[in-house]
Amino acid sequence: MDPGSLSRWLIRAEVDLDAIAANTRNLARLVRPARLFAVVKADGYGLGAVAASRVALANGADGLCVARPEEGLALRAAGIDAPILILGPTVPALADQVVRARLTPTVCDLQTAEALARAAGAGARPLPVHVKIDTGLHRYGILPSEAPAFLGHLSRHLQLRVEGLWTHLATADEADKTFAYAQLARFNEVVAALPPVPVRHAANTAAAIDLPEFRLDLVRAGIGIYGYYPSRHVGRAVALRPALTLKSRVIRVHDVGPGETIGYGRSWVARRAGRIALVACGYGDGYPRHLSNRGAVLVRGRRCPVVGRVSMDLLTVDVTDLPEVQTGDEVVLVGRQGDEEISLDELAELAETIPYELLTRLTPRVPRIYVGSRPVLTTGLPEGVKEDL
Ligand SMILES: *Cc1c(COP(=O)(O)O)cnc(C)c1O
Repeated sequence: MDPGSLSRWLIRAEVDLDAIAANTRNLARLVRPARLFAVVKADGYGLGAVAASRVALANGADGLCVARPEEGLALRAAGIDAPILILGPTVPALADQVVRARLTPTVCDLQTAEALARAAGAGARPLPVHVKIDTGLHRYGILPSEAPAFLGHLSRHLQLRVEGLWTHLATADEADKTFAYAQLARFNEVVAALPPVPVRHAANTAAAIDLPEFRLDLVRAGIGIYGYYPSRHVGRAVALRPALTLKSRVIRVHDVGPGETIGYGRSWVARRAGRIALVACGYGDGYPRHLSNRGAVLVRGRRCPVVGRVSMDLLTVDVTDLPEVQTGDEVVLVGRQGDEEISLDELAELAETIPYELLTRLTPRVPRIYVGSRPVLTTGLPEGVKEDL
């Protein structure tokens, strides 16, 4: 092995902040006059919530959405001051922290409402809250039939002010939008029967792009901010640039003879004499094991098939047709290298999942390296990892 060739990093997720900036600007322009809130739950879809939030807020996002109170608290701790809407439940035990951090909770039960009202009691101004209406997704939210009574209860808590009413769509990214329109109709009907609120919202990225009448006062865009379309059924009217490039390195190249097998379970058998490159990436980094004998990676600008099982820390690729491959070569698992690209959509389809899951399953041991023309943000990097640009 060339001793110098592996002296640098072995794996990294490069996050293109210019892409996040451009995607946010494009989405904000598309949905105007509706406001754009960037969804940064699950650590910014795996790419780093603090970095994504800062860039989105500097490029036209008016606020942020998280799934859990803890995610909002972490953003406040990082110094982010913008409005933060919590989409999921706030447990009563966290009410004080939520109020102190000026997070905007979604309230769908009286117990939480009362805890929040108590926590807000000391404050000078009432706490803005949003209420989610379940119009057919049947996960979180209150049913249309319960809405008038629930809002009536909330109105008795003078420490709370219902700022927003919202719903979430089950099929906005599917070809058939019939159910999405039925949900919107149900939502509009409920809202019309309630006292007016300043902010109504229903759209995720898919609806924001394809269904202008769903944009209402505010749009909650997640996947589009990071540069991916929600599904192949969603129109390409807005330009989105993928933010992630997942890179690793070849750590060994070796010959195999006909009949030899590679990896656990001996699932791949060499039919000819060939060469195998070992790559420092495995399911322990978030690369799906399901891509064993299915996936492909880029080495020296060419596609090379994944052969044998993907293991926790390593995978193997057939580089027989690329004799110049050597230890230390850069490998692209997701993204572009030269003129070739392995798109996240392609990989998700092969792995029988969606781009969302592939992004969020990138594990903490993969350093997130922020690239782009703007100042490099060091937040979100694991302790001790230095940018190596
Ligand atoms: C995650 C989420 C979104 C964002 O969805 P995208 O498809 O990523 O745009 C919007 N609203 C709610 C309630 C969500 O949970």
